[in-house]
Amino acid sequence: MRSLKFLVRLDDITPYMDRERFDKVRSVLDKYGICPMIGMVPDCRDKSIYGNDGSSYSDEEYRALINELTSSGWIVAMHGTNHVYSTEDAGLLGINPFSEFAGTSYEVQYTKLKQGRDILHRLGIQTDLFMAPGHSFDENTLKALKDLGFRAITDGLYHKPYLRESILFIPCTLVAYDKMHGLDTICLHTNNMTDKDISDLEKFISRHKGAAIRYNEDDLRVAAVNYSETVAMAESAALKMRSQKDRIANSPKLGAFLADTDHPNTVIKWLKRLALSPVLLTRKYGKQ
Ligand SMILES: [Zn+2]
Repeated sequence: MRSLKFLVRLDDITPYMDRERFDKVRSVLDKYGICPMIGMVPDCRDKSIYGNDGSSYSDEEYRALINELTSSGWIVAMHGTNHVYSTEDAGLLGINPFSEFAGTSYEVQYTKLKQGRDILHRLGIQTDLFMAPGHSFDENTLKALKDLGFRAITDGLYHKPYLRESILFIPCTLVAYDKMHGLDTICLHTNNMTDKDISDLEKFISRHKGAAIRYNEDDLRVAAVNYSETVAMAESAALKMRSQKDRIANSPKLGAFLADTDHPNTVIKWLKRLALSPVLLTRKYGKQ
């Protein structure tokens, strides 16, 4: 297993986020000296990412918060422009069948991305890091980003950073903490995190403190490989694995079977699965 280095990213940073959830996650990250990448939505129009507590920051409070975070080393990424999914295009990575950008023309994307960037500029924020809503973007997004001076994207399903169209891709494979290896990013949506999620996060971080790194474009570029057939194949394998997991998660029968036959000892686990697989095939499993 390759040794792990990980970054942290917080998605959906808006004046409407759940303040209490955000503060709880922030205090864990601060405790371990972790400076995450934060995905700011310049002009959030997507109410599904508003916090559940109905609170929101005033303009002044929000500016002060972002100022405080960036002064302590947190890195702002532009998380789309308005975060509204306007197409059903999964884009280059194929993770989610929806996008704010993928599937629209270069001109539309350029205009929208420029709008977002200009709003951030007016808030005094300069960033060349992009975080695509839904992890979906296409060739036109890359071209428009490049033309607007963006240099890096926090996404990629490979275990190393890579350069594609001269843009730096920082892996974010979206696997469980214990499955991460190589260089990866923990992707968090603070609005939806339960206390248990936050304590699991803290447990992981406390056990792997030495593996946490901060975003540094130069260092990551040095570690990056060029996008190639090998990277493409590895990404498509990772995507297949992901959709298989989704299928299992959506199948109560298979989920129940896997849970019931789980065992810390791998040999026993597979013996149990082997022994019970005829029962699974009879379609009666889960009805007993
Ligand atoms: Zn988002």
